[in-house]
Amino acid sequence: MQRLILAVNAGSSSIKFQAFAADHASLERRVAGQLDGIGSQPRLVIKTGAGDILKEQSFATGEIASVEAAEELIGIWLLGADGARAVGGPLDAVGHRVVHGGPEFAGPAAIDDGVLARITALTHLAPLHQPKNLAPIHAWRRRQPNLPQVACFDTAFHRGHGELADRFAIPDALYREGVRRYGFHGLSYEFIAQRLRDVAPEIADGRVIVAHLGNGCSLCAVKNGRSIDSTMSFTALDGIPMGTRPGAIDPGIVLYLLREKGMDAAAIERFLYHECGLKGLSGISNDVRVLEASADPMARLALDHFVYRIAKEMGALAAVLGGIDALVFTAGIGENGAALRREIVAAGAWLGLGLDDAANQARALDISGKGASARCLVIPTDEERMIARHTYATLWP
Ligand code: ADP
Repeated sequence: MQRLILAVNAGSSSIKFQAFAADHASLERRVAGQLDGIGSQPRLVIKTGAGDILKEQSFATGEIASVEAAEELIGIWLLGADGARAVGGPLDAVGHRVVHGGPEFAGPAAIDDGVLARITALTHLAPLHQPKNLAPIHAWRRRQPNLPQVACFDTAFHRGHGELADRFAIPDALYREGVRRYGFHGLSYEFIAQRLRDVAPEIADGRVIVAHLGNGCSLCAVKNGRSIDSTMSFTALDGIPMGTRPGAIDPGIVLYLLREKGMDAAAIERFLYHECGLKGLSGISNDVRVLEASADPMARLALDHFVYRIAKEMGALAAVLGGIDALVFTAGIGENGAALRREIVAAGAWLGLGLDDAANQARALDISGKGASARCLVIPTDEERMIARHTYATLWP
């Protein structure tokens, strides 16, 4: 039976949403929207499933100052005449991206009072992100208390990691209270792992490194369609550098900031989440496009460091996988950054990677060079589609 499902992906400064008509075998996108620049330059764009613009609006900074305000605006539109017409009827369910499922949630969960309390109790593991994911859940409960909702966790795809990959070398008591290498971007990686079965079935059960390079960046080692390790760990700060986060740093730097710079926890948190990465290192921008266009040597250094660190972590994940059959690029930089893809593949030549330059420029699905022993693919991610799939399967198995 066909159901209308809303998938909500609420981040720190944007909300993405898509509505689908779903049944057991298929998902048809009816609406795709995004409100980004929350708290800075809010901008709403809503399109039909075919990509035609339904609504486009910019706001003054103070008009949409929070994720809650953005959510409210989207909720009102969806429940209004335009929204209902575009979706094709009243919603049957809402699915949400929830960044942290802790040690307990290894898959999606239908939200009731108990599940909501357990998700809320995990907020201390993701204090910046979990509240943003909870806001739309509360809003839909308030609007339509009987509408089924499902939480889809970014950590869930990684919960099958072996214990060796799941541990830090710290006392067991901390592991038991939840200090583990969780990994994030799980909905994106799961989508890619499933998509490989359609577009490249011959490697879907192989050894694949997936590079999710967007505002947040991480790499995932996927073997037989399952995550076995990832560069992000306890928080979304670990691993490779990102737009404004440094990736892995010596923990001694945090002690240095505390002792020598007199920074407190809040100042260090702001520093690590917002002032490092490509932006901090270049001193120019977190946006790869801006850095590529800049003549400033620090812009080049930041991009070179980004590639260097990704190449180094690819080596680590290749070791864990015992070699690789393919590298998959996804998310904003991975899907659009042809120049960085070329550099990353060149740095991974020793793994058997090689590039077809024309295919890379054209952003083809398969950009592998002739004679390369490991394949190289570009696959657009779709976290909302993954959320909708989980929501349907959870509620109507
Ligand atoms: P999010 O993690 O918020 O979903 P995206 O996956 O949309 O982010 O990635 C956003 C990033 O993608 C931008 O910060 C920008 O650096 C990068 N990006 C977008 N278009 C291009 C492009 N043509 N070339 C290189 N990088 C790009």
